[in-house]
Amino acid sequence: MVRGMRILHVAAELFPYVKVGGLADVMGALPQALRAEGADVRLLLPAYPALRDALGGVVSAGPLGPFAGVGEARLLLGRTAAGVPLYLLDLPSLFDRPGGPYDERGDSCLRFGALSWAAARLGRQGDAQGWRPQVVQAHDWQAGLAPAYLALEAGPRPATVMTIHNLAYQGRCPPSVLKPLGLPASAFHLHGLEFHGDLGFLKAGLVYADRLTTVSPTYAREIQTPEQGEGLEGLLAHRSGDLTGILNGVDPDLWHPSRSPHLPMHFASSRPSGKKVCKNHLQRELGLRESPAAPLFGIVSRFAVQKGLDLVLENVDHLVALGAQLAVLGSGDPALEAAFRAVAAQHPGSVGLRVGYDEGLSHRVIAGSDALLVPSRHEPCGLTQLYALAFGTLPVVRRTGGLADTVVDATSQAQAEGRATGFVFEDPNGWALGEALNRACGLYRDQPAAWTRLQRTAMAQDFSWRTSARQHMELYRALVHP
Ligand code: ADP
Repeated sequence: MVRGMRILHVAAELFPYVKVGGLADVMGALPQALRAEGADVRLLLPAYPALRDALGGVVSAGPLGPFAGVGEARLLLGRTAAGVPLYLLDLPSLFDRPGGPYDERGDSCLRFGALSWAAARLGRQGDAQGWRPQVVQAHDWQAGLAPAYLALEAGPRPATVMTIHNLAYQGRCPPSVLKPLGLPASAFHLHGLEFHGDLGFLKAGLVYADRLTTVSPTYAREIQTPEQGEGLEGLLAHRSGDLTGILNGVDPDLWHPSRSPHLPMHFASSRPSGKKVCKNHLQRELGLRESPAAPLFGIVSRFAVQKGLDLVLENVDHLVALGAQLAVLGSGDPALEAAFRAVAAQHPGSVGLRVGYDEGLSHRVIAGSDALLVPSRHEPCGLTQLYALAFGTLPVVRRTGGLADTVVDATSQAQAEGRATGFVFEDPNGWALGEALNRACGLYRDQPAAWTRLQRTAMAQDFSWRTSARQHMELYRALVHP
């Protein structure tokens, strides 16, 4: 029985302190689930002011020395509100600034080079109190150089895992940063740090880490193909024996219809009336007609090409003609923001929009809608469809990545077998989404009993972090006790 394996997770986001997308949710929940399985888990993030100020009770955990001519780095150690020990990389010239985690001043290569370097130092030497990880798990490109730093230096080192949350963000930097980052020029080649003439942070992690993971089994297969491999498909196929897809989970204390702190009324499968109250509240909050009978489709999303929201825009007139409503929360790409503003202005009472980031409203949109639209072109795992299932809000998704792994299309056979939980379409075009919307509206209007059955099945799905944590523990065990 292996207990207390020491695991260090390295990332750039952490819910509830610093969040841009799903990575933060994962970092906020997975470590606790791993601790429940007996692992001794710690986190490492940059000492963003928002994070440092929120923690309180932070102590020094040792100097790391000078970094890249920009200052002396040191480690601080605190605990998250959930009690997980958290190292902060204190390097004021790179991190002591306002703004989000990816605030761009043209120095993100140095910022996240520093994060990776600090992870490797902590991995090799341990902290001032003697804690040293047996496994370093690097999340996304910002931590991608950590496995490289560890592998390229001689001597005993912890095992390494590189986790891909989104292959589309790769961290490509000019080769001129090799020197300040202290990486050997001899490793700058096709089979090492180089990616098409640049230093590739994520690519380096994929080359040098002992094991690779991503966030769903389907995405693990897709990224080995030219369509979704973002130029790294050859390397990923070559390493397919080391690559595992482990689905993300849902935090049941937050994303639960009878526990979410953000709803006007709680509900459950056995007490569904609260969902009607949530729908009415959402319609009022977003200026929609207060119609209980109108099928209400929600969206909570970053506005990015990846998310396929242009397919929704193509279908807005169609949806309105069907008597349906749209509740949209999101922000990002200015062109998409403008396009959603335009359709909201065109269809007052039928399209409600909030541009921005709003944690509370995200719960109310997902809980108050009848269905949630996630028409992504690619989706490594996707969290909002999992939250929607928990809230009895049927997801309408494209068959890709984690969406394909978590939503069962309402075919007549799947309905007869009691497995159906949503609506799935294949092709990334507006017509295919339109067909799925027709099916959803049809079932909602004409077969309310069937809709309720789907909701019950959706709410009974178990996407717990425990499953994910157990799969991680198996991976760590194989690395630490081969
Ligand atoms: P990604 O990480 O690609 O953005 P995920 O579905 O994995 O997509 O995770 C998105 C997370 O961000 C979810 O927790 C979702 O609720 C949240 N989110 C996205 N946009 C917003 C927003 N505008 N306001 C609040 N939460 C948002």
